[in-house]
Amino acid sequence: PPDVEQLGRATWTFLHTTAAYYPEKPTMQHRVNMLSLLRALPVLYPCSNCAQHLGENMKTHPPDVSGRAALSKWLCEQHNEVNERLGKDKFECTVEKLDERWKDGPSD
Ligand code: FAD
Repeated sequence: PPDVEQLGRATWTFLHTTAAYYPEKPTMQHRVNMLSLLRALPVLYPCSNCAQHLGENMKTHPPDVSGRAALSKWLCEQHNEVNERLGKDKFECTVEKLDERWKDGPSD
């Protein structure tokens, strides 16, 4: 089986970075494709227990693909749910903190 930790770090990097660069005003095509990408994860993610948890969470907390800020926040909350389950620190899900980590880097 894959290395669940390395796979997780790589996947979060991809997802948070993609959300950080998602348009403020996405076209229908952007939205449809982002929804497909996210809905595919509970089916395809190669850590079955991770995929199962994500699928359950997505039922009660569906992805918000209406814009960059909403998507980044939604993803941050999903990641925090996993952090909490694993006993890791939670991340502060503000656009400022998310952009600093995943888009702009620290100022100065
Ligand atoms: P990671 O959690 O991988 O985080 C990487 C970096 O992201 C951190 O260093 C931090 O800078 C930043 N970060 C942290 N939290 C947030 C946040 N909320 N928002 C934005 N940025 C943040 N592992 C399991 O053992 N069981 C599971 O059920 C499980 N489910 C997963 C589900 C998904 C969809 C994914 C992508 C991964 C899952 N993982 C799971 C893996 C787990 O989340 C971690 O990736 C792995 O444990 C490595 O953790 P890490 O401490 O290196 O940092």
